[in-house]
Amino acid sequence: MENQPQNNNLSSAATPASGAVAEITPQAPPNVVVKDLNVIYNQGKSNEIRSLDGINLEIFPREYVIIFGPSGCGKSTLLYSIAGLQKPTNGTITVDQEDIGAYDNRQIAWFHRQKIGMIFQSFYLISSLSILENICLPKIFAGKMMKDIKASAVELLKRYDIIEQAAKFPSELSGGQKQRVAVIRSLINDPEIILADEPVGNLDSKSAHVVMTIFKELNEVEKKTIILVTHDPAHLQYGDRIVHMMDGKIVRIENKPKRAIDADSYIFKDGKAREDLTPRSEHIPINLRLLMQSFKGLSSDQIGNLLVPFKAQQLFSHLFFSMTNDQIIKATKKLESFLYFKDSFHDFFEQLDTPIEEGGAGWDKRLAKRFSDNVKQLVYQAGKIDFANKPASARELAEYVNSRLDLKLDESIMNNLSKIIFDRLDNHIGKNEFKILLDAPEKERGLGLNKRVVEKISKEIELLLLLRY
Ligand code: ADP
Ligand code: MG
Repeated sequence: MENQPQNNNLSSAATPASGAVAEITPQAPPNVVVKDLNVIYNQGKSNEIRSLDGINLEIFPREYVIIFGPSGCGKSTLLYSIAGLQKPTNGTITVDQEDIGAYDNRQIAWFHRQKIGMIFQSFYLISSLSILENICLPKIFAGKMMKDIKASAVELLKRYDIIEQAAKFPSELSGGQKQRVAVIRSLINDPEIILADEPVGNLDSKSAHVVMTIFKELNEVEKKTIILVTHDPAHLQYGDRIVHMMDGKIVRIENKPKRAIDADSYIFKDGKAREDLTPRSEHIPINLRLLMQSFKGLSSDQIGNLLVPFKAQQLFSHLFFSMTNDQIIKATKKLESFLYFKDSFHDFFEQLDTPIEEGGAGWDKRLAKRFSDNVKQLVYQAGKIDFANKPASARELAEYVNSRLDLKLDESIMNNLSKIIFDRLDNHIGKNEFKILLDAPEKERGLGLNKRVVEKISKEIELLLLLRY
């Protein structure tokens, strides 16, 4: 199993000693090296976009770097590349001397859980989980049990003055509070590098100051490397180095003199949150719809564990039967919790079958059985997809859809189907190309099947791929 830092030094960190200056050791090697990075979308097509064009950048341990530039200049693409969420078209990204482009899926998952913490403009809190559960999520994904992680989560909640909100749900918190929760969640695995994409873009200036100060404090006191994206010049004062971007290129790098710590501006004093700085009455409209909107720009493999509610929803629309709204909503919650591995499969089935008055989803037993068996089969099948052995997985998926959809395909068509599924697994083609290939006549290595069947196969495969992530 992978190494997991057990002692969360955040929980034991003291209040900043006033006057202490966080040193950047000049001889320390950079922990992030971006070399000749290009990211080109829709390469070779008429709508080709050079999102990043020849980026070279070194970031050193304990630096606070701000990536600054107008909307569309490539800031997010650069940040997601460093996070390993965006594959370079050319060039390399090294983090702690390792080429993250060479990581396989498991290593990337480890990298996301242990090395980096990410914070987005939209908070990506899961609306159906409490604040405490939201914070514990990254550890649950790292294979920990809730009871073992609660103590460090509670410690962090206390530190960031959110403890009174622990049992509440995201919709009950103000924007500033939600962003503090998102920051805390990114800290729970004690990552070395914190990446933040416009983290205060949705906040009023007072809440923005509180959150920006938390980043400053994390940098100076907790020695975290911070890489923060903003288009707002008002935020530049917080960084040590400003990377100015324009049209996919770095146009200037500005070094700021390292300032002595202004302990007065910190959120904590004598181990307690300062009352005068913590806004008590923020009125920021809650816009949870942003959550799903924000998912649009990212692909499924970029969102990782945040996709669980979406997965649950997709499973539902896939295995849909007629039932009341209440039964569907209740069951979606149960399914989410099953996908989060909080419940066993047996519990999931039992809960679907239990009356709504008793906290279940109120489903008919036969329906619950049929549905949960379907879920089990899909989750099992998705779990078997092995990206290290795509040809075998493609063949197995072809056999799976053939039998599940009762297609009775002959051997030569099965071979074509396996090849097309292989291309999809290999990410050579997207969903639409996949369907076009399936739709092609048999002699053009397609399947010669009708549109309705093609649609069914495509839905089945896309769902399995989504579940696999
Ligand atoms: P910023 O964060 O600075 O606003 P982005 O990195 O989001 O900029 O985008 C840089 C450019 O790349 C923009 O022109 C944007 O439209 C384009 N872009 C970003 N993501 C995609 C994508 N998935 N497909 C096509 N173009 C994209
Ligand atoms: Mg952006």
